[in-house]
Amino acid sequence: MIRIKKTSIQLFNEYMLSYSWEDEACPWCGSKGNCVSHGSYMRSMADFTYGKAVYGEICVLRLCCTSCGHTHAILPDVIIPYSVYGLFFILRVLAEYFLPLHTVGKLCSRFGISVSMLYRWRDLFLSHKQEWLGMLVSAETAPSAFIKGLCFLERYSISFACQFVLLSARSFLQSHRNPADYRQEFF
Ligand SMILES: [Zn+2]
Repeated sequence: MIRIKKTSIQLFNEYMLSYSWEDEACPWCGSKGNCVSHGSYMRSMADFTYGKAVYGEICVLRLCCTSCGHTHAILPDVIIPYSVYGLFFILRVLAEYFLPLHTVGKLCSRFGISVSMLYRWRDLFLSHKQEWLGMLVSAETAPSAFIKGLCFLERYSISFACQFVLLSARSFLQSHRNPADYRQEFF
């Protein structure tokens, strides 16, 4: 994952270029091939490139299932539902926090985030780490070692994100569970 040099916005746009909804399975009723476009909306997205936080926008596609009438949004897993900050952004903040590379004050100003947000991400990361590894292994695995392992995964999605979603019904570092409103795709 550390070798992925693209921003979340680039990854998102590339993913959407190759995405087609013909075979999409509805996350509400499970029927396949019955989803049609239901418009799109713009969402802000933060990335960290060339040493600073930058803000851009992504265009999120919504689909409507003609079988059950529910709608859902299509998001690849670098985008965390309900969060302006992408997965790479948060993992980078946490890696620098746990190593630790900077003081908390310096870290927050470097990334343009509040101290309370940093601690919210830290607590979420620690609880998801425990959920992922199990309590015993988690206690023996330092957060810095765990985050390092994540950063060096060859394919983040296949090896980790996909399994975390299956395990806990939400994305890694997503604060609450999916109400089936979002369908997470793996890039
Ligand atoms: Zn449906």
